[in-house]
Amino acid sequence: MDRRIDLYVDGQWVSPSTRDTLPVENPATEEVIGAVPAGTPADVDRAVAAARSAFAGWAATAPVDRAAALDRLHAALTARTDAIAHCVARELGTPLRVATRVQAGLPLTVLRGFVDLARQPPPEETVGHSLVVREPVGVVGAITPWNYPLHQVVAKVAPALAAGCTVVLKPSELTPLVAYLLFDAIDEAGFPPGVVNLVSGTGPVAGEALAAHPDVDLVSFTGSTATGRRISHLAADRIARVTLELGGKSANVILDDADLRTAVKVGIGNAFLNSGQTCTAWTRMLVHRSRYAEALALAAELAEGYRTGDPFDPATRLGPLVSAAQRDRVRDHVARGLADGGRLVTGGTGTTLPARGHFVAPTVIADVDPDSALAQEEVFGPVLSVIPFDDDDHAVAVANNSRYGLAGAVWSGDEDRALGVARRMRTGAVDVNGAAFNPLAPFGGYKQSGLGRELGSYGLEEFLQVKAIQR
Ligand code: NAD
Repeated sequence: MDRRIDLYVDGQWVSPSTRDTLPVENPATEEVIGAVPAGTPADVDRAVAAARSAFAGWAATAPVDRAAALDRLHAALTARTDAIAHCVARELGTPLRVATRVQAGLPLTVLRGFVDLARQPPPEETVGHSLVVREPVGVVGAITPWNYPLHQVVAKVAPALAAGCTVVLKPSELTPLVAYLLFDAIDEAGFPPGVVNLVSGTGPVAGEALAAHPDVDLVSFTGSTATGRRISHLAADRIARVTLELGGKSANVILDDADLRTAVKVGIGNAFLNSGQTCTAWTRMLVHRSRYAEALALAAELAEGYRTGDPFDPATRLGPLVSAAQRDRVRDHVARGLADGGRLVTGGTGTTLPARGHFVAPTVIADVDPDSALAQEEVFGPVLSVIPFDDDDHAVAVANNSRYGLAGAVWSGDEDRALGVARRMRTGAVDVNGAAFNPLAPFGGYKQSGLGRELGSYGLEEFLQVKAIQR
C-alpha cells in the first residue's frame, strides 16, 4: 500500500485538517493500492496563504536562479523515472513501456524546455514612449486530470515557476500518487518555502475551493469541458484569469493519395494510445471513399493486433480504463454508436477480456454518421469511428463538424495539398503525414477545447501579464 498522509505546504510535509482519505485503485486488478488525504477548503486556504507569502520573493528572484531550481527538479525527477513509470502503470494502467516513454519521459522533456526558457528574462519592448514589461501573474491554482497525470502537472507547474508565479496544485483524485512523487522531487530540489504546494482531494471540495479562492490570480485547468465551464464561472466572480485545456474529438483526414498503411497504422496508434484516454486522440478517421474499404480492412487487422491485459506484461499494448465508471461510459458509447447506424468492424463486447479490471476491447466502428453522438461526443476509450468523404472540401466540412477543436491530422502524397487542408481545419494543432510531437509548439484548443495555450514560450506567456510604463 502506498499510503500518503500529508500535504505539501510552505516547503514541508504537513498534516491535513482532516483524517479523511481517498482510496487509490489499480484499474487492472481492482485492488486498492494506496490512499491520500481528502484535502478540505481549510487546507486550500493554508496552501494559498503560503503561496501568497512566497510570491513577492519568488517573483523577484533572478531568472537564472529560478532556472537553477527547475534544473535541480529535473535531476530529482530523472532519478525517479522508473518509480514514476511504475506508479502510473499501477494507478492508471498505462502499459509499462508506454508509461516509461510517455508518462515519465514526456514531462522530463517538457521540464527541460522550461529550464532553458526560464533562464531568459521575459522580453521588454519599447512602444513609442512606453516601456512594456512582463511580470508574473501571481498565485496560480493548478487543477489536473488523471490521463497524463505527471505531464499535465509539469506543463503547468514548470512554466508558472519559470515565470515567477507561485503554485497550489490539486491533482486528480484518481491518480494522485505520481503527484506525491513529484513533490518528493520538489522537496529534494529545494524551492523556497511556499513557492509550490500540494493539496490532494476531490474536485467538488478541494478543486472548487481552489478555483473559487479570492487570493488565486490564475486558475490553470486541464480536464473535461463540463468542469472547465464550472471553473470559468467560479473565476468570473472575481475576474480571475483562467486557462483551460479541455476535451477533443480530433479528425485524422486520409486523402486519396496518402500512404494508406502508414496513415491507418499511425492513426490507430494515436487513437488507442493510453487506452484512448488522450485528449488529442484522433478518434474520427476520415477516409476518401475510393480507399475506404481498404482502410477498414487495414484498421481491423491492426486493431486486432492490440493485445489487451496486464500493464506489466511486455506483450500488452492496451491497459484498462481508469475506472469502472469510465469503462461503463465507453461501453454505452459503443452501444449507442451501433444503435445509431454504425457498423462494428472489430471489438465491441463480443471480445474476451481479462476477468478483472476495467478493460474495453480495441474497437473500430465504420459508417459512423458525422452528426451522431459517437462522432460528436468525447468517448475517452479505445474506440475508433471511421467516416468516408468524397473530396477535400467534404473532408474539411466533416472534420470541422465538431464543437471541439484540439488536434487533428492530414495524410497526403502531396504536402502542399495536405497543408491546404490543415490550414482549413478549425483546431489548435494539425500533424501532416505523421510529423512528430513538438514539445515546444503551442498546445491548446479552438472552440470548446479550451482557452489559452500550454508548452514552450506560448505556455510561459500565460503566466505573465504586461505593464506599460510611459516615460
Ligand atoms: P474532470 O474535469 O472530471 O477532472 C479534472 C480535474 O478537475 C480533477 O482534478 C478533478 O478533481 C477536478 N474537478 C472536478 N470537478 C471540479 C470542480 N467542480 N471544481 C474544481 N475542480 C474540479 O476531468 P477528468 O475526468 O479528470 O479528465 C478527463 C478529461 O480531461 C477529458 O475530457 C479530456 O479530454 C480532458 N483532457 C484535456 C486535456 C487537454 O490538454 N486539452 C488533456 C487531458 C485531458
